[in-house]
Amino acid sequence: MPTPHPEFVYLDGQIVPWDDAKLHVFSPAVKYGAGVFEGIRGYWNEDENQMYVFRVAEHLARLRYSQIMMRFDRIFEPQDVETPMLELIRRNGHRATIHIRPTVFVDGYQESAATGPIGMFITSFERPASSYLQTGCSVQVSSWQRLSDRAMPVRVKANANYNNSRYAGIQARVDGYDTAIMLNDRGQVSEGPGMCLFIVRGGRPLTPSVTSDILESITRDTVIEILDADFGLSTTEREIGRSELYAAEEAFFCGTAWEVTPITSIDGLAVGDGQVGPITKRLQDRYFDIVHGRVADDRGWLTPVY
Ligand code: PMP
Repeated sequence: MPTPHPEFVYLDGQIVPWDDAKLHVFSPAVKYGAGVFEGIRGYWNEDENQMYVFRVAEHLARLRYSQIMMRFDRIFEPQDVETPMLELIRRNGHRATIHIRPTVFVDGYQESAATGPIGMFITSFERPASSYLQTGCSVQVSSWQRLSDRAMPVRVKANANYNNSRYAGIQARVDGYDTAIMLNDRGQVSEGPGMCLFIVRGGRPLTPSVTSDILESITRDTVIEILDADFGLSTTEREIGRSELYAAEEAFFCGTAWEVTPITSIDGLAVGDGQVGPITKRLQDRYFDIVHGRVADDRGWLTPVY
């Protein structure tokens, strides 16, 4: 059964019916993946009858950076994206957790190095939490290497970068795992196909540093902040060797889509006792309270929609 889609999409200045949101097959966006995007979540708060979008400013700052790195002829500033994004959510009338995807792309029928004309579309889609949140997931250390910053800028959330993630993610599933962890070109732990990684060793959280060829994740930043300010646990950001993964007491992924997802096994070896770890569980609960606006938004991370 096809997934039900929302009624409207934002495309180049207009909110249009889903079926009318079309790009030409010959556009560099289609031919070469010449585009950059953001994945942002909105959380429905039932008691307040309100939708809160999480860390809009940080996502749109990253989208701006991505556009500059792509040398686009036209740059969509945060406000140029935020206004239609909030309008689209209202028009689609979402009252559930959603995933929002603003994409800035090269349109027209130019060659691969074209830097314009530039278009923008935004989609908003209901996206319920994954069952892995409760059960944890099984992970394969991938034989596919994470992109090197010398080959494709890893901090740019470019559509084309995701072919790298696809190879690793699909291979993991074919081999019977839920998803993958990729190592970088120096053989150190990098990240998952669309999410960052934390491990806990000796009661201390560790995560690959921003020079480990990761996307500079906004959820990673959120998790570091919550662990520190709310739990008094300071995270060490450093290179992590592959064999450290098998010594971890706890491990979890984090990301906008993956939220805080426990990892219960790596390459068939149980992480800790193979159950969701206590720090992971506590962090998950706190994360969901914060993103849903069930606790005071002291950090100014939430944007109300309605
Ligand atoms: N790494 C990659 C490759 C990603 O695609 C994502 C999702 N944007 C993340 C990490 C997590 O980033 P964020 O927390 O900003 O969503």
